[in-house]
Amino acid sequence: MDKKKTLSRRTLLKVAGAGALGGAVALGLDKLGVFPGQNPQRPEPAAEAMARRRNPGNGDDISLLGYGCMRLPMLPRAIAPNGPEIDEAAALRLIDHAMAHGVNYFDTAYPYHKGMSEVVVGKALSRYPRNSFYLADKMPTFLNPDLAAAKEIFATQLERCQVEYFDYYLLHNIQTAAAYRKVYEENGVLDFLLREKAAGRIRNLGWSFHGDKEALEYLLSRDTRWDFALVQFNYHDILHGYAARPGGGRSTGAEPAPSLWLMEKMVASGIPMMLMEPLLGGRLARLNKKTLAILQAERPQASAASWAFRYAASLPNVLTILTGMTYMEHLQDNLHTFCPLEPFSEKDLAALKKALDGFLSQENIRCTACGYCMPCPYGVDIPALFTHYNRCVDDEHIPRGARNAEYDRARRAFLVGYDRSVPELRQAGRCTGCAKCIPLCPQKIDIVQEMARIGKFVETLKTQV
Ligand code: SF4
Ligand code: SF4
Repeated sequence: MDKKKTLSRRTLLKVAGAGALGGAVALGLDKLGVFPGQNPQRPEPAAEAMARRRNPGNGDDISLLGYGCMRLPMLPRAIAPNGPEIDEAAALRLIDHAMAHGVNYFDTAYPYHKGMSEVVVGKALSRYPRNSFYLADKMPTFLNPDLAAAKEIFATQLERCQVEYFDYYLLHNIQTAAAYRKVYEENGVLDFLLREKAAGRIRNLGWSFHGDKEALEYLLSRDTRWDFALVQFNYHDILHGYAARPGGGRSTGAEPAPSLWLMEKMVASGIPMMLMEPLLGGRLARLNKKTLAILQAERPQASAASWAFRYAASLPNVLTILTGMTYMEHLQDNLHTFCPLEPFSEKDLAALKKALDGFLSQENIRCTACGYCMPCPYGVDIPALFTHYNRCVDDEHIPRGARNAEYDRARRAFLVGYDRSVPELRQAGRCTGCAKCIPLCPQKIDIVQEMARIGKFVETLKTQV
């Protein structure tokens, strides 16, 4: 956007905190009871009820619920013996259901499902008129493509997606100014993408961001007109005032940009935003009992995830909120939240702040289970390990010293869950500390350090009866 917009910190906090519009989504988990008010008899919402946002730059009428296509349903291992494979029939059913209920923004990327996300999404959407959906795809910055490689990747993406143009195209996962300069300036990839835009094969050019302050300042200082940006925000980080990690001493490289600072910068830039990870990798859809009870007292019928989505929808300059919907229950619950959208009120904010006290503590590891760090050459299942650890923190299954009255219960719960969640050959003790995974993690988690911590913790629990 050309028009720069300035907003005082106070106004911004008011908007970000109090909210104007609402919306919701849920990342499934109904079997775990995170959809307390889900009623199978509820009538399906009408497509016309879907909350929409108009892109001020070009008038695109975008559904506020966007479909993130990095977590499509997978075939059971028995049916796909050669490795993970998308359950194409299930994915097509989901996309059809989403289209029928007003979802019109679909976000894929070159590495999602090792390229198969683009193929399946392309196949699904090729059955609809091209002007009935908006498709987003991304240049894989992490591959450090030179100009020839970037041209090949872009051509492959158009072919895989069966389209002649992308509505929204992103420089994927900008983490540092140096990485941006190398790929997009020195290698000439940005000029190439701008030429593609001039030729009509890209309608809107933007970037997705997981970087530090310097990286954002650099992006915003360029002469290039950025039509939009995909940024990670959620109520937890904004209201807790966190940077891109909850604890001290657990990040690597440059400090991640704090959420509130990032929000202020983005709003001041006037660049329309697509939001990602509003559920913090699904963790805000699975609150512990204490936290959930506070929210249920305020809105008995609302799922945990709906709070995260309604809050996210209240943030300024948001065009769509992306979520990965693996199962039909996810999509259906999300549709109920967005069709129609209930405004997020001051009362909601007060309840959310109260509920948030103590939830997702400093002990949590900020893993969103994105899987970018996988596969580990030594077989360690990094996301499964972090997911189990975080779940135990949330459910208070972290043993607090042998003298604690709850020690035995917590110890048993942690160890039984550990062995069930992660086979022995993939557990933390297998980590060699090679550090190959660290640069791949957009959350900048010091995976080596966390693996050592979890491994030591488990050993202590096993020996300290
Ligand atoms: S540091 Fe550990 S978890 Fe990461 S790639 Fe190496 S062995 Fe795997
Ligand atoms: S450790 Fe990082 S890269 Fe790996 S799954 Fe978690 S957030 Fe993703």
